[in-house]
Amino acid sequence: MRDKYIPYGRQWIDEDDIKAVVEVLKSDYLTTGPKIKEFEDEFAHYVGAKYAVAVSNGTAALHAACFAAGIDTGDEVITSAMTFAASANCVLYQGGRPVFADIDSNTYNIDPQEIKKNITDKTKAVIPVHYTGQPCDMKEIQQIARENNLIVIEDAAHALGAIYKGEKIGNCKYSDMAIFSFHPVKHITTGEGGMITTNNKDLYDKLIQFRSHGITKKQEKYINQYQGPWYHEQQLLGFNYRMTDIQAALGISQLKKIDMFVQRRRETAEIYKRELCGIDWIKLPYQKDDRESSWHLYVIQVDEEKLGKSRREVFEYLRDKGLGVQVHYIPVYWHPYYERLGYEKGLCSRVEGIYEQIISLPLFAKLDKQGIDFVITVLNNYIKSGVLR
Ligand SMILES: *Cc1c(COP(=O)(O)O)cnc(C)c1O
Repeated sequence: MRDKYIPYGRQWIDEDDIKAVVEVLKSDYLTTGPKIKEFEDEFAHYVGAKYAVAVSNGTAALHAACFAAGIDTGDEVITSAMTFAASANCVLYQGGRPVFADIDSNTYNIDPQEIKKNITDKTKAVIPVHYTGQPCDMKEIQQIARENNLIVIEDAAHALGAIYKGEKIGNCKYSDMAIFSFHPVKHITTGEGGMITTNNKDLYDKLIQFRSHGITKKQEKYINQYQGPWYHEQQLLGFNYRMTDIQAALGISQLKKIDMFVQRRRETAEIYKRELCGIDWIKLPYQKDDRESSWHLYVIQVDEEKLGKSRREVFEYLRDKGLGVQVHYIPVYWHPYYERLGYEKGLCSRVEGIYEQIISLPLFAKLDKQGIDFVITVLNNYIKSGVLR
């Protein structure tokens, strides 16, 4: 282990979080207890949605959303390839086919015109991903969805606290559902955890049933005859995607700090912008002005020509200096599993071109001034250090 190592992302857990978890451990319910609904209600309130459904992780949230959207064998769902594999895997879980639309070369978010080009009579839904926390062009996407009768599921795993046209991502003003992740590198954490938000009661009921085996205990919903107080029905094939009360208590406690977490990420992004804008081989993240990123990731583009060095050389140098940089993401369909399904290289030329040049710098709420300075110094010293020229 080096003296100094700064990961690209990590959690921030304080004494209040620990206390909240310990309290649940001493209570009657470790799972399926009161903390779940409390977390859901507070989360829904924070993002401005009617309903929220807590699940075991963000991937389960995507799967549940695809189920509730009615994605089925042969259906096509359009998403971005500049994302974590889960954004597309969820379509495969339901027997559907992910279709990758290319991105806008400035924002790296899915390009609404490319969505349009990829619509066929099999297209059932679209999953825009708010990459790095900058909201997608939701108004345009909603318009396309309405014209073509598509369901919109926002992959908002990067975007808790992000603002689009003055309102929070997750309020589902331009979509049917939005999903979030509470993995430790995301804005708030529950260890593992996820959430789906929606304003639609039908979708909400389906999500609730799906996360617990497809079982319902609601008498008015029974298909067969009620047989006594023990009675319940499994009406569809769901999963055990429940979150525990231990996780929910941590989530409630973390959510109290979300504004501070997002604020600190925004401040770090500002400092990076100010301090790195003078380095000619670095292209900084582009931000549209009708939206505010929640800054899950800080992604720079390496201008290999100006630098005379490859992205890989820069990356390895930064790792060697103790920066836990990462690349988000390898184009989804480049993975061997997707290749086996028949996806070929060249599908999204902008995604592929940008993938070759990007590096994610460390960015998380707990990153302090010393850490930020260290990142900036390492980058500034890159050319100066004779190692490279
Ligand atoms: C983290 C992430 C997910 C999945 O969340 P998990 O909680 O890790 O299952 C999905 N989509 C994107 C874009 C993510 O970054």
